[in-house]
Amino acid sequence: MDNLIRVGLVVAALLVAHPTLAQGPAARSGLDPRVQKLVASVSEERMQQLLAKLVSFETRNTFSDTTSATRGIGAARQWIHDEFKRSSPRLQVSFDTHTIPAGGRVTREVELRNIVAVLPGKSARRIYVSGHYDSLNLGPRRGGATGAGSARGATGATGAGLPAEALAKAGQTPRPPPDYNAPAPGANDDGSGTVLSMELARVFAESGIEFEATLVFMAVAGEEYGLIGARAHAKRMKEEKVPIQALFNNDIVGNSRGGNGIVDGATVRLYSEGPEDSPSRALAQFTKRFAERYLPSHQIRLMARRDRFGRGGDHSAFNAEGFAAICFRESRENYQMQHNANDTIDGVSFPYLAQNARANAAAMATLALAPPPPAVGSNMLGRQPSGYDARLRWTAADGAAGYRIFWRRAWAPDWEHELSVGSVTEFVLPGMNIDDHVFGVAAVGPNGHESTVSAYAMAAREQ
Ligand SMILES: [Zn+2]
Repeated sequence: MDNLIRVGLVVAALLVAHPTLAQGPAARSGLDPRVQKLVASVSEERMQQLLAKLVSFETRNTFSDTTSATRGIGAARQWIHDEFKRSSPRLQVSFDTHTIPAGGRVTREVELRNIVAVLPGKSARRIYVSGHYDSLNLGPRRGGATGAGSARGATGATGAGLPAEALAKAGQTPRPPPDYNAPAPGANDDGSGTVLSMELARVFAESGIEFEATLVFMAVAGEEYGLIGARAHAKRMKEEKVPIQALFNNDIVGNSRGGNGIVDGATVRLYSEGPEDSPSRALAQFTKRFAERYLPSHQIRLMARRDRFGRGGDHSAFNAEGFAAICFRESRENYQMQHNANDTIDGVSFPYLAQNARANAAAMATLALAPPPPAVGSNMLGRQPSGYDARLRWTAADGAAGYRIFWRRAWAPDWEHELSVGSVTEFVLPGMNIDDHVFGVAAVGPNGHESTVSAYAMAAREQ
């Protein structure tokens, strides 16, 4: 008998021998009505109102005024804080404050304040959604994305990123010191991600759902000067041993009309650092799987890279501390409307921004209702009992009612097969060659919600 057919028959027999899990709300239809309701409650109108208010502070440059009640980053961050509080009494809202010494592009000591709204869950493990609320005006753009890198662009005294000598050589005079109070509306970069985070705080807190995980809604400071707000927060969480399971970062997610005229309001890009099957990649795949299940009209375009060329974002600061973190980016950017006075609210499409918020919401809610993923290791995958089988073992996940295993050919990017295997911590796929396939396992809760997939990676020396 052909080997594939034989495996197929065995798998079919296993399906009969292992009935699917207890029927929770998500198990019956694949969709949980509570999550459907939550996703549907995202308000395009509220996001528009929030963004109109956010840009009214005129600039949110890290070094702008902190004393005015109506203009600059001081007034903006106080309003974000108060608005989080107003949106639900269930949210624990605070400033996460860091004093950053002068150095590099930080031209003077500055106090950064991330704003954090926490919705406590049954466990301490945290799932974040974020956008950065600081903004930047580098002056008129010379075209293209060069020099617009949020992690690299602002150099302080010489403006566009070139040292004074290089500018002099090129026959240009260095720019004057930047005016930190110049208009920097930052409607799309990253007012869009900020109001997405603020709207999801309201939606999750008011949903009445008791989540397994603790949800954190964050407005991040200091992104434009080298991810300094995110770095300080991620470092602090690492030091305090706070278990962060995932960060969904949203940076430039509100514009659907590219600078080249191409319009795309039906897809969004999702970046994640490698290598393949890393926790961030597993999170990205999970996000596509469940966001598209709840929002089939919106496609998640997975990108197997950390970010765009020469550009950066706050997710990388979380990656650097060992946390899984991914970043949503609109599909078609308009570089002429970034890091200058042109980044105004008329460049934001609210129907598109709301779709991106719904995609985040569907994936976050599913992850927050699921158990944590099971632990696996390269030594937990073997060829027994026959010597030619795939034997998978894993460590039980807290609160799991069962498990689902996944496999694919060793050259394929996405999982190709899956099988519910019930409440066991070991499973054999007879006749499956472990050298030719990649295997993974996810935990499934009593409500039918499923975790990210933990893949069996080869030990580094074997790759
Ligand atoms: Zn940005």
